[in-house]
Amino acid sequence: MNTSFSYRLRVLACDGCGAAVELPHGGGHGRCHRCGSPMVAPMRPETAVPRSPPMQEQVRMTHLRQQDGRPQMRPPGLEALVSPTGEIDAWKLGEARQVWGATRAHLRSQPSDLAAAERLVFLTMALSNAMAGSGDELGLRALYEGALEVLALPRHRQLMRGYLARNAARLGDLESAQAWLAGCDPGSDDLQTDSVYRITQAYIATATNDPPSVLRALGGSEVDVPIHDTMDPIAVVLRANAWERMGNVEVARGMLARFMTSQGGLGAAVESVAKVMPAHWQVCAQSLQGARMEHRRHVAKRAGSGAGAGWVLLLSGLAVAVVFLGGTISDPPDAGELATGPLLLGLLFAVGLPAGLGLLGLRMIRGAKRQKIIAESGLQGQARVLALNRTGTEINDVPVMRVDVEVSVAGRAPFRASTKKLMQPHEASMLIGREVPILWHPKYPDEVVLEV
Ligand SMILES: [Zn+2]
Repeated sequence: MNTSFSYRLRVLACDGCGAAVELPHGGGHGRCHRCGSPMVAPMRPETAVPRSPPMQEQVRMTHLRQQDGRPQMRPPGLEALVSPTGEIDAWKLGEARQVWGATRAHLRSQPSDLAAAERLVFLTMALSNAMAGSGDELGLRALYEGALEVLALPRHRQLMRGYLARNAARLGDLESAQAWLAGCDPGSDDLQTDSVYRITQAYIATATNDPPSVLRALGGSEVDVPIHDTMDPIAVVLRANAWERMGNVEVARGMLARFMTSQGGLGAAVESVAKVMPAHWQVCAQSLQGARMEHRRHVAKRAGSGAGAGWVLLLSGLAVAVVFLGGTISDPPDAGELATGPLLLGLLFAVGLPAGLGLLGLRMIRGAKRQKIIAESGLQGQARVLALNRTGTEINDVPVMRVDVEVSVAGRAPFRASTKKLMQPHEASMLIGREVPILWHPKYPDEVVLEV
């Protein structure tokens, strides 16, 4: 079987334009058929990952757990090309490809430049995310193998071989999937390296419809085995799918919903992970819809939670009025007092403060109700965060921020909308420029609910 991810082929990407070019294992000269750049390849290098020395399993697991919960950081030098979370804007794809090629060429002569290796790995991941589902299988293959051949660190090689193995399995080429995996390290105490091995094992077991092996690799629940943050969504989907295949749809649905809700914006990641798996695998076919609905109910509840604070304001307004009125009735002012300033001030206070608090409270209750409707029955979409500004309101010292976004919803041209959200200033600054999943309802076109 010679698929685009066949282990027997050698496919490298042209450093100039990224086109896939098949090259002989023994190396030699070639020419890119797309841009005409000359290509020189040495002999196909040995890219197997060296095995870690044997280690007590309990010690290894402790090491792995200590590394969990650390997000992948974008390496310095890629700020202008890739977002912190690894997305490349469509109009920068060409430039990103060029930088990928230049970094790869540099590593060929300077294999020990670790900073360049980190950049190549991050760029490879970002470019492959942008290419996923495009149908350019050979281009994807060339990207991974091109990177693999110039990377020296075990962690980096394992990452590339994992991609190659999973893509081979996705195309039904199980022999090649096993061959790529056979050159991986099964016993690393580096979390990313270990997670790649587990995810790839689980992926191949999913392709061969072997759910018990999936659960052996990933654990029966999300707390059994630590998984690197970048691979959490795929682990959750494969694990839930294994439970579903074994007849336990309820467990599968619960796991998916829990992940969508606890990880905020990653709810959408679960959906996109499931979408790029082969349709005939029917991954989470019975549990995903239910999980989505359960997650929506959570979002709606959270979106409606501002009503509570609104009622508190409204009621404190009323309380001030009652206390003042009560005081006035039990100790009525005499005629002399009526004409003096203090009472006038008191009156202002008794009317003005409750009215102010009450109006603010009512606005918050109405806003929360709108947000709840949008979250419950709105459409899903994406939005880019354009600006964040303090509204001046603070609740328990946390500022209410106004978030301006540009919304993309299927079937409509992009448009501006906004929302208000309680947020610490440092959380807010991380959102600027980011793409976030949102919910939007045509009934309130200027407003969105953030799913983060
Ligand atoms: Zn080319």
